[in-house]
Amino acid sequence: MDLKKKSIPTMVTHASNELTVCMLASGSKGNAILVADQQTRVLFDAGLSGIEIERRCQSKGFHPDQLDAIVVSHEHSDHIQGVGVLARRFSLPVHISNKTGRTAGSMLGKISDIRYFECGNPFTVNTWTISPFSISHDAEDPAGFTIHTNGMKIGIATDLGVVTAMVRERLKACQVLILEANHDPEMLINGPYPWPLKQRIQSRTGHLSNEASRELVSALKHKDLQHVVLAHLSETNNTPEKALQEVGLALNDCNTQLHVATQEVCAEILQIRGFEGDTRAQGSSC
Ligand SMILES: [Zn+2]
Ligand SMILES: [Zn+2]
Repeated sequence: MDLKKKSIPTMVTHASNELTVCMLASGSKGNAILVADQQTRVLFDAGLSGIEIERRCQSKGFHPDQLDAIVVSHEHSDHIQGVGVLARRFSLPVHISNKTGRTAGSMLGKISDIRYFECGNPFTVNTWTISPFSISHDAEDPAGFTIHTNGMKIGIATDLGVVTAMVRERLKACQVLILEANHDPEMLINGPYPWPLKQRIQSRTGHLSNEASRELVSALKHKDLQHVVLAHLSETNNTPEKALQEVGLALNDCNTQLHVATQEVCAEILQIRGFEGDTRAQGSSC
């Protein structure tokens, strides 16, 4: 069946200044973020099986053969499990850092169109400019990303042990931020994980707590920040309610919408409007 022709993709927007974001999955068992506008569609990480990513895409009226590329943040299996399968099945280019690609090796398998990026050097996918930047995480060459298109800026940083000055700088002035809020520190300390794993999660190369995420959002908020999506929540050491409550404290005086992405189901599709008309948020005190 030719789904590309038959489906009416709800992930494909109609206005030229609109962009859609869908968190297909987020958490330690698998991460995948679908971002699309009228011209360009990119999957950031593919950390579920290829078939599951395909199923989740289709549940949103989107087929993976409509993708322009897969972009990989780092080599942990919750970010690359489905990359090779999807790339081969749909002939997709894979953008990955050289070091990450080498470390991932056999987990990716053979990819015919691999395009290496370097953190700090922007690259293009179709109409978009994507800027990768280094983050502090226990992987070979982990990256966060910003996407620039149609006057919009989207920021993605989902696995980071600590917020560096560079992360704060790179994520400035985004209309959408997808940020890690991994754990509640008390739940982590009192939880069932063995001590070395607790230490790893809390370390500078582990994962961001709700509190650290709140501080980052406080530093980054501005009147045109439309959405903050909390990502990579621990199912053992956090709850969506705790993450929303803690990070929400940073946005009390703002019009920004706060969301949480989960592991088991796709999140709602977010529609983001660019600023081609005079649609900038008015009246927010952020
Ligand atoms: Zn991860
Ligand atoms: Zn990771």
